[in-house]
Amino acid sequence: MFRLKILLMIFCIAFSVQAAFAEKQARYLLGAMPLPSNQFPDSYGSYSKGCLAGGQAMLESGPTWQVMRLSRGRNWGHPNMISFLERLSKAVAKETSWNGIYIGDISQPRGGPMISGHVSHQLGLDVDIWMLPAKNLNLTKSERESISSIDVRAKNKKTISSNWTKDHMEILKLSANDPSVDRIFVTAPVKIYMCNHESGNRDWLQKIRPYWGHNFHFHVRLKCPKDASFCKTQKPTVQYLSKGGIGCDETLNWWITKALEPIKIDPNKITPKSKKHPREYTMADLPKQCIAVLNSE
Ligand SMILES: [Zn+2]
Repeated sequence: MFRLKILLMIFCIAFSVQAAFAEKQARYLLGAMPLPSNQFPDSYGSYSKGCLAGGQAMLESGPTWQVMRLSRGRNWGHPNMISFLERLSKAVAKETSWNGIYIGDISQPRGGPMISGHVSHQLGLDVDIWMLPAKNLNLTKSERESISSIDVRAKNKKTISSNWTKDHMEILKLSANDPSVDRIFVTAPVKIYMCNHESGNRDWLQKIRPYWGHNFHFHVRLKCPKDASFCKTQKPTVQYLSKGGIGCDETLNWWITKALEPIKIDPNKITPKSKKHPREYTMADLPKQCIAVLNSE
C-alpha cells in the first residue's frame, strides 16, 4: 500500500512538471537557450509563430558591419540571412558613403517568441538595420550598447527628417533588389519620399511596405529558404497592392492622415476576443518541430 502511494506521488509530480512545461510560455523556454540547436538549419512555421533550427551567428564585427546591442543575444539567423547581410553590407560599402551597416536584432539562437519586443523575428529570416550611417566600424561593445540610431521621420510624422539622405534610399534599393528579400518595412514618409523621387525602374518599390514605427531602423524580411518545406510563405506583397502596382498610390496617404488621428472608442461596440499574442504562445501553439529544436543539444 505504502509503495503504491509513493508511486502515485511520483506519477503526480512527473505529471505536474509535464503540465507546467506545456503551459509555460514558449518565450521563456526558447528565450532561455544561449546556443542554437545542434540540427540542420531550417525555419519552421511563420514569421510570427515559429522557430529556427541550426541557427548561425552573425559575427559581432566584420569588414563591412557591426552588430549592435550584443547583450540581447539576438544575432542569430538562418544561413540565408547571414549571407544576405554579408552581401548587402559589402554592396553598401561599395556603393554609398557608408562603410557598411549597423545590424540590430535578427533572432534568438533557436528563434521563437521573445521575452520582450518583436512579434516576428521568430524564424531567423527578419533583421532590423539601423538608419544611423555606419561610418565607424570600430565601435566597442559598450558603445554598441549605448549609442542610439537616428530618426529619419520628421516630428509631424508626415515627412522625412533632415537625417534622411540619398544613401538611405540607395541602401533600401540595394536591399529590395536582392532576390532573397521578400519585403521591407519602413515608416510611411520614407516610402512616400522614395515614390516621389525614383525616376528610373520603379519595380523595387513594390517590396517596400509602410508600417508603424520603422523610423529608426528598417526591417528586412527574407523569403522562405527553398528547402525549408515547413516555412510558411507570406502572401506576396503584390496581392495587397492594387492591380499589381508598387504601392505608390493614394493608399499610402492613409498613413499620414487617418492613421495619425486619435482612435475613437465606441463604448457600445462589443470588442471580439483578441487572438493570443505571440508572447502568450506555449510550445503546443508552435509547429511540432519546435519541440525538437528546444530539446536538441
Ligand atoms: Zn523588426
